Amino acid sequence: MTVFWRSRVGTDRGANDGMVGEVARSHTGESRNLGQMARILLTGGAGFIGSHTAVVLLERGYNVVLLDDFSNADRGVLERIQRISGIEIPVIEADIRDELALTRAFSTFPVDAVIHFAAKKAVGESEVEPLLYLDVNIVGTVRLLAAMQRVGVSRIVFSSSAAVYGEPEICPITEAAPAHPTNVYGRTKLVMEGMITDLVRTGAIQSAAVLRYFNPVGAHPSGLIGEDPRGVPANLMPYLCQVARRRHPFLRVFGDDYPTPDGSGIRDYIHVMDLAEAHEFALRRTLGHGGIVTVNLGTGTGYSVLQLVAAFEAATGKKVPYSIMPRRPGDVAECYADASLAAELLQWRATRTIEDMCRDAWRWESRAAF
Ligand code: UDP
Repeated sequence: MTVFWRSRVGTDRGANDGMVGEVARSHTGESRNLGQMARILLTGGAGFIGSHTAVVLLERGYNVVLLDDFSNADRGVLERIQRISGIEIPVIEADIRDELALTRAFSTFPVDAVIHFAAKKAVGESEVEPLLYLDVNIVGTVRLLAAMQRVGVSRIVFSSSAAVYGEPEICPITEAAPAHPTNVYGRTKLVMEGMITDLVRTGAIQSAAVLRYFNPVGAHPSGLIGEDPRGVPANLMPYLCQVARRRHPFLRVFGDDYPTPDGSGIRDYIHVMDLAEAHEFALRRTLGHGGIVTVNLGTGTGYSVLQLVAAFEAATGKKVPYSIMPRRPGDVAECYADASLAAELLQWRATRTIEDMCRDAWRWESRAAF
């Protein structure tokens, strides 16, 4: 394990900013100011959603520790998080399966809660290398939970996915919809959710929030951090951005014969900054309450592939040539969230538009800020 301890620099942002008056009651009954007190460990904190969440938490006065093995993240993101926030943060380089490293990390940096992002996340790869996914995602989570139990950390926010639903019977999808994942990745997320649910039920974990993400896209408005897929991206938005940059001649639109208004597939795209902010709302609930909540994180509105192409062209002024191809195996016609439970339980709603998502994704892709 490598520990880089970095202290706060070059900022006059105090630990209270944005959190003054936020009071939580701990299980021992004493009340405390979350913004002053809370230190949060982000596993996978250098990744796409982790890095944006780190920025939001730092801006809102939390103390943040990142843990990442950098298997799917660039170390340069650390310096860019610091540039955005003006705060240097401790970073632990470790594999989530390394229980000894996790225990040491918790002893070096005692934390109030964990946000657990670290996982393998490519659907296609999970079907080719299922054991790798079982090992990193499931074994990794078991080790994390064991290390948390050893040091007495009992609050967790968990990064789950709409992939747990599989083929939806009805859209919008509520959290009560049956969970029948159709690939190994989605299955591992469902198993991890079940493990956390059991630990809350049996009292080993005091409080948890399970967040089922729909389709995260976009980037921080600074253009300094964003999604950084290795190799040719499988997901629509990063591929579309690369077409706009002429790294590929055209976008392949997988199917125009779905039972949707324009025939292309419909998804619930959500701006990564909305998603990052949702983690702070979930964290606040987890620090202040016991029990478990499981919520969808989406906008509640679906856009088709062709609508996204049109929105991207309008927002960026860039042409995106495309060609209609056969359906991609395993894809469903439409998948969008009923986002009302998150509004009710977390008091959170997505606010950014499809134009914001396209503009910010493009700014990051074209590295305007560098
Ligand atoms: N898609 C597409 N071309 C691509 C990638 C994706 O037409 O190069 C479509 C895909 O069929 C789906 C939507 O875009 O309807 C979102 O796909 P993505 O892989 O981004 O997310 P998914 O919802 O499948 O996890």
